[in-house]
Amino acid sequence: MEKRIVNFSSGPAVLPLSVLQEAQRDLVCLPGVGASILEISHRSKEFEAILAQTEANLRTLLAIPSNYKVLFIQGGSRLQFTMIPKNLLPAGQSADYIVTGSWSKMALDEAQREGTVRVAYNGKATNFDRLPEASQIELDPNAAYAYICSNETIQGVQFAAEPNVGNVPLVCDSSSDFLHRPLDISKYGVLYACAQKNAGPSGVTVVIIREDLLNRSSDNLPTMLNYQSYAKENSMPNTPPTFAIYLVNLVTKWLLNEVGGLAKMHDLNRRKAKLLYDAIDSSNGFYRGHAQPNCRSLMNVTFRLADEALEKEFITKSEARGLMSLKGHRSVGGFRASIYNAMPLEGVQSLADFMREFAKR
Ligand SMILES: *Cc1c(COP(=O)(O)O)cnc(C)c1O
Repeated sequence: MEKRIVNFSSGPAVLPLSVLQEAQRDLVCLPGVGASILEISHRSKEFEAILAQTEANLRTLLAIPSNYKVLFIQGGSRLQFTMIPKNLLPAGQSADYIVTGSWSKMALDEAQREGTVRVAYNGKATNFDRLPEASQIELDPNAAYAYICSNETIQGVQFAAEPNVGNVPLVCDSSSDFLHRPLDISKYGVLYACAQKNAGPSGVTVVIIREDLLNRSSDNLPTMLNYQSYAKENSMPNTPPTFAIYLVNLVTKWLLNEVGGLAKMHDLNRRKAKLLYDAIDSSNGFYRGHAQPNCRSLMNVTFRLADEALEKEFITKSEARGLMSLKGHRSVGGFRASIYNAMPLEGVQSLADFMREFAKR
């Protein structure tokens, strides 16, 4: 096998090596099936078992209460920007959006096309480098829902705990930090995540939704945009993304059996992130983190060089070491190290070592 790079891509992103190896081993012939996962009907008992096990693994990992449905939907997280208001925002009501970065801003823009929305907080004035204090969020107690993005992938700011939104259902885009720590799902009305950051490949989005909220979906919605169709048809109103779901199954199995659950995953994620934030903080200002220290993401570490003229050299030299995809999003500039669940500690350590050496030299 060719040597694998240290892959800091923001998404699609690194997957556990053992998951890729199992998929490779079984690609031509799934054990007990005699055909590839790519070649069998989604109505076959074999695929139905994979789907059921994927849901069961997610329920175990996140201790999902029984009054929540787990749906698998195509169209990526951006389709959820539309499906959320289409299903959950009735005419005559409004929804509150807490805008903490690029993704929640884009979700707000899409929701505006569907109904009435309020901005309960907007972090644009500080270039989305922080999250709001509770007192800065102006919530409408009658809102149809309150919307957050738990981890802003581009800016690298992350809620360490859910904001308190009272009795209003909390809707959360957890695309880039799904399964990175244990969560209390009962605090959410809806929590959703596309798979390609932390849970698998692109092509499937997991939507965890409290059952009573399904009653809001109007029968007039297009079938494929109606959460009820997915809930009633076991996520199969049409052909689901079978291969993507199969890989999510392998990733959840890896989390359960090799990592040992989300508490252990969280510990490891904290250790990984600390290596990089320590390298930034001990550099005497050579590196400057984008996110305020109390809002720093465990998944996407964003930083610049105080001397921006050196940024090109940083990329060239890091790539020569196999440290890849570190360039930051153009709206923030600088660098972004995405260190999702599947990024091993050694990969992060090699970046931290490189950062110290580069600063010294
Ligand atoms: C990647 C990402 C998205 C967009 O996901 P698509 O599947 O490409 O639509 C949305 N929200 C967040 C937080 C993301 O990281």
